[in-house]
Amino acid sequence: MGPPPRTEVVAIDGPSGAGKSTVAREVASRLGYVYLDTGAMYRAVTLHFVRRGVDLRDGPAVRRALDEIEIDLEEEGRISLNGEDVTREIRSGKVTSRVSQASALPAVRRKMVALQRAIAKRARGVVAEGRDTTTVVFPEASAKFYLDASLSERARRRTSDFLAEGEAVALDEVEEEMAVRDRSDSSRKTSPLRRAEDAIAIDTTETPAWAVVQRVLDEVERRRRTATAAPRPVKRGSSSQGRSRKGR
Ligand code: C5P
Repeated sequence: MGPPPRTEVVAIDGPSGAGKSTVAREVASRLGYVYLDTGAMYRAVTLHFVRRGVDLRDGPAVRRALDEIEIDLEEEGRISLNGEDVTREIRSGKVTSRVSQASALPAVRRKMVALQRAIAKRARGVVAEGRDTTTVVFPEASAKFYLDASLSERARRRTSDFLAEGEAVALDEVEEEMAVRDRSDSSRKTSPLRRAEDAIAIDTTETPAWAVVQRVLDEVERRRRTATAAPRPVKRGSSSQGRSRKGR
Protein backbone atom coordinates (compact mmCIF):
# COMPACT_ATOMS: atom_id res chain seq x y z
CA MET A 1 0.00 0.00 0.00
CA GLY A 2 1.25 3.47 -0.83
CA PRO A 3 1.15 6.44 1.52
CA PRO A 4 -2.33 7.74 2.43
CA PRO A 5 -3.58 10.32 -0.06
CA ARG A 6 -3.05 13.86 1.12
CA THR A 7 -6.00 16.05 1.97
CA GLU A 8 -6.73 18.58 -0.71
CA VAL A 9 -7.00 22.02 0.89
CA VAL A 10 -8.63 25.05 -0.69
CA ALA A 11 -7.94 28.10 1.49
CA ILE A 12 -9.80 31.41 1.35
CA ASP A 13 -8.89 34.47 3.42
CA GLY A 14 -10.09 38.05 3.54
CA PRO A 15 -11.84 40.61 5.74
CA SER A 16 -15.38 40.18 7.04
CA GLY A 17 -18.21 40.60 4.56
CA ALA A 18 -16.01 39.84 1.54
CA GLY A 19 -18.18 36.82 0.75
CA LYS A 20 -15.85 34.10 2.07
CA SER A 21 -18.49 32.08 3.91
CA THR A 22 -21.00 31.99 1.06
CA VAL A 23 -18.31 31.04 -1.42
CA ALA A 24 -16.46 28.55 0.80
CA ARG A 25 -19.66 26.78 1.83
CA GLU A 26 -20.79 26.38 -1.80
CA VAL A 27 -17.35 25.29 -3.05
CA ALA A 28 -17.16 22.72 -0.25
CA SER A 29 -20.58 21.35 -1.10
CA ARG A 30 -19.77 21.15 -4.83
CA LEU A 31 -16.49 19.32 -4.14
CA GLY A 32 -17.94 17.14 -1.37
CA TYR A 33 -15.35 18.53 1.05
CA VAL A 34 -15.55 19.62 4.67
CA TYR A 35 -16.34 23.31 5.13
CA LEU A 36 -13.92 24.68 7.74
CA ASP A 37 -15.21 28.00 9.09
CA THR A 38 -12.27 29.10 11.25
CA GLY A 39 -13.98 32.39 12.19
CA ALA A 40 -16.79 30.39 13.82
CA MET A 41 -14.18 28.60 15.93
CA TYR A 42 -12.68 31.89 17.19
CA ARG A 43 -16.20 33.07 17.89
CA ALA A 44 -16.97 29.94 19.94
CA VAL A 45 -13.84 30.46 22.04
CA THR A 46 -14.83 34.09 22.56
CA LEU A 47 -18.32 33.04 23.64
CA HIS A 48 -16.81 30.73 26.25
CA PHE A 49 -14.61 33.58 27.57
CA VAL A 50 -17.61 35.92 27.74
CA ARG A 51 -19.70 33.37 29.63
CA ARG A 52 -16.90 32.67 32.08
CA GLY A 53 -16.10 36.38 32.46
CA VAL A 54 -12.45 35.71 31.61
CA ASP A 55 -10.17 38.74 31.72
CA LEU A 56 -8.16 38.46 28.50
CA ARG A 57 -5.13 40.09 30.16
CA ASP A 58 -4.98 37.29 32.69
CA GLY A 59 -2.81 34.64 30.97
CA PRO A 60 -3.39 31.77 33.45
CA ALA A 61 -7.16 32.39 33.43
CA VAL A 62 -7.16 32.35 29.62
CA ARG A 63 -5.22 29.06 29.57
CA ARG A 64 -7.54 27.48 32.14
CA ALA A 65 -10.60 28.51 30.12
CA LEU A 66 -9.00 27.18 26.94
CA ASP A 67 -8.46 23.81 28.60
CA GLU A 68 -12.20 23.55 29.26
CA ILE A 69 -13.13 24.04 25.62
CA GLU A 70 -14.14 21.40 23.16
CA ILE A 71 -15.29 22.59 19.75
CA ASP A 72 -16.90 20.43 17.07
CA LEU A 73 -17.91 21.38 13.57
CA GLU A 74 -21.11 19.61 12.67
CA GLU A 75 -23.07 19.06 9.47
CA GLU A 76 -24.31 22.08 7.53
CA GLY A 77 -21.88 24.48 9.12
CA ARG A 78 -23.24 24.09 12.66
CA ILE A 79 -20.81 24.43 15.53
CA SER A 80 -20.92 23.10 19.05
CA LEU A 81 -19.12 24.24 22.16
CA ASN A 82 -18.78 21.52 24.80
CA GLY A 83 -21.67 19.66 23.23
CA GLU A 84 -24.01 22.67 22.99
CA ASP A 85 -25.09 24.01 19.61
CA VAL A 86 -23.93 27.64 19.62
CA THR A 87 -24.31 28.35 15.89
CA ARG A 88 -26.62 31.28 16.48
CA GLU A 89 -25.15 32.68 19.66
CA ILE A 90 -21.65 33.11 18.24
CA ARG A 91 -23.07 35.74 15.83
CA SER A 92 -24.38 37.91 18.67
CA GLY A 93 -23.08 41.46 19.18
CA LYS A 94 -21.38 40.60 22.47
CA VAL A 95 -19.24 37.98 20.73
CA THR A 96 -18.60 40.02 17.56
CA SER A 97 -17.36 43.01 19.53
CA ARG A 98 -14.83 40.90 21.46
CA VAL A 99 -13.69 38.29 18.98
CA SER A 100 -10.78 40.28 17.56
CA GLN A 101 -9.25 40.76 21.00
CA ALA A 102 -9.62 37.10 21.90
CA SER A 103 -8.28 35.85 18.58
CA ALA A 104 -5.17 38.02 18.87
CA LEU A 105 -3.97 35.92 21.84
CA PRO A 106 -1.22 33.46 20.81
CA ALA A 107 -2.52 30.75 23.18
CA VAL A 108 -5.94 30.92 21.55
CA ARG A 109 -4.44 30.74 18.05
CA ARG A 110 -2.20 27.78 18.92
CA LYS A 111 -5.18 25.76 20.09
CA MET A 112 -7.37 26.68 17.11
CA VAL A 113 -4.68 26.08 14.48
CA ALA A 114 -3.96 22.62 15.93
CA LEU A 115 -7.66 21.81 15.85
CA GLN A 116 -8.05 23.09 12.28
CA ARG A 117 -5.15 20.95 11.07
CA ALA A 118 -6.51 17.90 12.91
CA ILE A 119 -9.89 18.33 11.22
CA ALA A 120 -8.18 18.61 7.82
CA LYS A 121 -6.09 15.53 8.46
CA ARG A 122 -9.18 13.40 8.99
CA ALA A 123 -10.89 14.71 5.82
CA ARG A 124 -10.49 13.85 2.16
CA GLY A 125 -10.62 17.53 1.36
CA VAL A 126 -11.41 20.82 3.11
CA VAL A 127 -12.38 24.30 2.09
CA ALA A 128 -11.05 26.53 4.85
CA GLU A 129 -11.86 30.19 5.27
CA GLY A 130 -10.66 32.84 7.68
CA ARG A 131 -7.84 35.33 8.13
CA ASP A 132 -4.73 33.13 8.23
CA THR A 133 -5.72 29.90 6.47
CA THR A 134 -3.58 30.73 3.40
CA THR A 135 -0.61 32.05 5.37
CA VAL A 136 -0.30 30.11 8.62
CA VAL A 137 -2.70 27.20 8.95
CA PHE A 138 -2.36 25.67 5.47
CA PRO A 139 0.61 27.30 3.72
CA GLU A 140 0.74 24.21 1.47
CA ALA A 141 -2.88 24.54 0.33
CA SER A 142 -3.37 23.48 -3.27
CA ALA A 143 -5.32 26.62 -4.12
CA LYS A 144 -5.38 29.93 -2.21
CA PHE A 145 -7.68 32.91 -2.58
CA TYR A 146 -7.93 36.37 -1.08
CA LEU A 147 -11.42 37.83 -1.26
CA ASP A 148 -12.03 41.51 -0.69
CA ALA A 149 -14.67 44.16 -1.40
CA SER A 150 -15.18 47.82 -0.58
CA LEU A 151 -16.00 48.56 3.06
CA SER A 152 -19.39 50.05 2.17
CA GLU A 153 -20.39 46.97 0.17
CA ARG A 154 -19.20 44.62 2.92
CA ALA A 155 -21.19 46.60 5.50
CA ARG A 156 -24.26 46.57 3.24
CA ARG A 157 -24.07 42.76 2.97
CA ARG A 158 -23.68 42.30 6.70
CA THR A 159 -26.60 44.64 7.38
CA SER A 160 -28.86 42.64 5.08
CA ASP A 161 -27.68 39.40 6.78
CA PHE A 162 -28.84 40.90 10.07
CA LEU A 163 -32.15 41.92 8.53
CA ALA A 164 -32.68 38.41 7.22
CA GLU A 165 -32.29 37.24 10.83
CA GLY A 166 -34.96 39.75 11.89
CA GLU A 167 -32.50 42.23 13.38
CA ALA A 168 -32.47 45.85 12.21
CA VAL A 169 -29.08 47.51 12.63
CA ALA A 170 -27.84 50.84 11.32
CA LEU A 171 -25.56 50.61 8.29
CA ASP A 172 -23.07 53.16 9.63
CA GLU A 173 -22.76 51.25 12.92
CA VAL A 174 -22.02 48.02 11.07
CA GLU A 175 -19.50 49.83 8.89
CA GLU A 176 -17.75 51.33 11.91
CA GLU A 177 -17.63 47.97 13.74
CA MET A 178 -16.19 46.30 10.63
CA ALA A 179 -13.53 48.95 10.15
CA VAL A 180 -12.42 48.52 13.76
CA ARG A 181 -12.29 44.72 13.42
CA ASP A 182 -10.39 44.96 10.09
CA ARG A 183 -7.79 47.22 11.66
CA SER A 184 -7.31 44.98 14.63
CA ASP A 185 -7.18 41.75 12.55
CA SER A 186 -4.64 43.26 10.13
CA SER A 187 -2.37 44.89 12.66
CA ARG A 188 -2.05 42.21 15.35
CA LYS A 189 1.35 40.62 15.95
CA THR A 190 0.31 36.97 15.64
CA SER A 191 -1.00 35.83 12.25
CA PRO A 192 -2.34 39.15 10.98
CA LEU A 193 -4.73 39.19 8.03
CA ARG A 194 -2.68 39.63 4.89
CA ARG A 195 -2.76 38.39 1.35
CA ALA A 196 -0.40 35.45 0.78
CA GLU A 197 1.88 36.08 -2.19
CA ASP A 198 0.55 33.01 -3.97
CA ALA A 199 -3.12 33.75 -3.26
CA ILE A 200 -5.39 34.77 -6.11
CA ALA A 201 -7.07 38.07 -5.27
CA ILE A 202 -10.74 38.40 -6.15
CA ASP A 203 -12.58 41.69 -5.70
CA THR A 204 -16.17 40.70 -4.96
CA THR A 205 -17.61 44.24 -4.77
CA GLU A 206 -19.45 43.86 -8.04
CA THR A 207 -19.13 40.15 -8.65
CA PRO A 208 -22.06 37.90 -7.72
CA ALA A 209 -21.29 34.98 -5.41
CA TRP A 210 -22.01 32.34 -8.07
CA ALA A 211 -19.34 33.86 -10.34
CA VAL A 212 -16.78 33.83 -7.53
CA VAL A 213 -17.66 30.19 -6.79
CA GLN A 214 -17.13 29.33 -10.45
CA ARG A 215 -13.80 31.14 -10.54
CA VAL A 216 -12.61 29.22 -7.46
CA LEU A 217 -13.78 25.86 -8.87
CA ASP A 218 -12.12 26.58 -12.23
CA GLU A 219 -8.87 27.41 -10.53
CA VAL A 220 -8.98 24.29 -8.32
CA GLU A 221 -9.54 22.22 -11.45
CA ARG A 222 -6.74 23.99 -13.33
CA ARG A 223 -4.31 23.36 -10.44
CA ARG A 224 -5.25 19.69 -10.38
CA ARG A 225 -4.52 19.37 -14.08
CA THR A 226 -1.21 21.16 -13.73
CA ALA A 227 -0.27 18.99 -10.76
CA THR A 228 -0.89 15.77 -12.72
CA ALA A 229 0.86 17.13 -15.78
CA ALA A 230 3.90 18.40 -13.84
CA PRO A 231 7.15 17.12 -15.33
CA ARG A 232 8.67 14.24 -13.39
CA PRO A 233 12.39 14.36 -12.82
CA VAL A 234 14.08 13.14 -15.99
CA LYS A 235 16.42 10.19 -15.46
CA ARG A 236 19.99 10.78 -16.55
CA GLY A 237 20.52 9.43 -20.02
CA SER A 238 16.83 9.16 -20.83
CA SER A 239 15.15 11.31 -23.43
CA SER A 240 11.92 13.25 -23.02
CA GLN A 241 10.06 10.06 -22.08
CA GLY A 242 10.49 10.84 -18.39
CA ARG A 243 7.94 13.62 -18.70
CA SER A 244 4.27 12.89 -18.33
CA ARG A 245 2.06 14.31 -20.98
CA LYS A 246 -0.54 16.95 -20.36
CA GLY A 247 -4.09 15.74 -20.14
CA ARG A 248 -3.33 12.25 -18.85
O1 C5P B 1 -14.97 35.24 9.78
P1 C5P B 1 -15.59 35.92 10.99
O2 C5P B 1 -15.96 37.33 10.74
O3 C5P B 1 -16.68 35.12 11.60
O4 C5P B 1 -14.39 35.94 12.03
C1 C5P B 1 -14.55 36.51 13.30
C2 C5P B 1 -13.23 36.97 13.84
O5 C5P B 1 -12.42 35.84 14.15
C3 C5P B 1 -12.38 37.84 12.94
O6 C5P B 1 -12.72 39.21 13.00
C4 C5P B 1 -10.99 37.59 13.51
O7 C5P B 1 -10.74 38.41 14.62
C5 C5P B 1 -11.05 36.15 13.98
N1 C5P B 1 -10.46 35.21 13.04
C6 C5P B 1 -9.10 35.03 13.08
N2 C5P B 1 -8.49 34.11 12.29
C7 C5P B 1 -9.21 33.37 11.45
C8 C5P B 1 -10.62 33.55 11.36
C9 C5P B 1 -11.21 34.49 12.17
O8 C5P B 1 -8.43 35.71 13.85
N3 C5P B 1 -8.59 32.46 10.69
